[in-house]
Amino acid sequence: MSTTTRKSPSKKQRALEVLSRLKRLYPDATCSLNYTTTVQLLVATILSAQCTDERVNLVTPALFSRFPDAPSLANADLTELENLVRSTGFYRNKAKNIQAACRMIVSEYNSVVPNTMEQLLKLPGVARKTANVVLAHAYGINAGVTVDTHVKRLSQRLGLTKYPDPVHIEQDLMKLLPQPDWENWSIRLIYHGRAVCKARSPVCEACELADLCPSVTKTIIVG
Ligand code: SF4
Repeated sequence: MSTTTRKSPSKKQRALEVLSRLKRLYPDATCSLNYTTTVQLLVATILSAQCTDERVNLVTPALFSRFPDAPSLANADLTELENLVRSTGFYRNKAKNIQAACRMIVSEYNSVVPNTMEQLLKLPGVARKTANVVLAHAYGINAGVTVDTHVKRLSQRLGLTKYPDPVHIEQDLMKLLPQPDWENWSIRLIYHGRAVCKARSPVCEACELADLCPSVTKTIIVG
C-alpha cells in the first residue's frame, strides 16, 4: 500500500504565489505619490516617512509650486519650507533634510538626482527605502525591495520574514523574489495592506492570500 504525503509549499513557493496573486488583484498598482520630476519624487518620498501618501499629496502642490526643483529647494527660506511641509509631521527634520539633500544634489550632481544606491544613501535624510523608491520609479532600477510599514507588516504576517527591522526584512525578500519584481511587490503589498490586511483589523475572511498565510485568523481556519 502506498502513502502519499502532501508537502507544504516552501517559503519561496509561497512568496512567488503571493506575488502572482498580487499581480492579478492589483494589475494597475503604481506609486501613489504625485510628482513630475525625480527631485520631486525624492522630496515626496522623504515627506512620506511616518505619514500617509494621501497627506503628502495634499502638501506637495503648494510646495512644488513655490520650490519646484533642487536649486530652489536648496536656497529656500528654511522657516517657509518648514511651514509648507508642517502637516506631514516631523516637519523640522524633514525640511532640514530636504534642503541639505538638495544642496548636495546641486553642488555634487549638477542638480540631477544621482542614480546609484551608494550615492543616494549619502544624501541627508535618505535611507534604503527612499533610495529604492527613487531608483525604481525614476530610473527603472530594481536595486532592492522597498520596506515601508505595510510591507513590513504583511511580510511578517505572511511568514516571509521573522525580522522586525527593515534592513533584514529587505534581505529576506530579495532572496525570495525575482529582481524584476522587487518594486512591484512592494507597491502591490502596500495596496493589499491598505485594502485588506490592515494594521489593526486584517479582513482575513475577504483575503485572497488566506490559504497562503500562517497568520490567517483562527475563525477562518475553523470555519
Ligand atoms: S490572511 Fe489575514 S493576516 Fe494573512 S495576509 Fe490576509 S488579511 Fe493579512
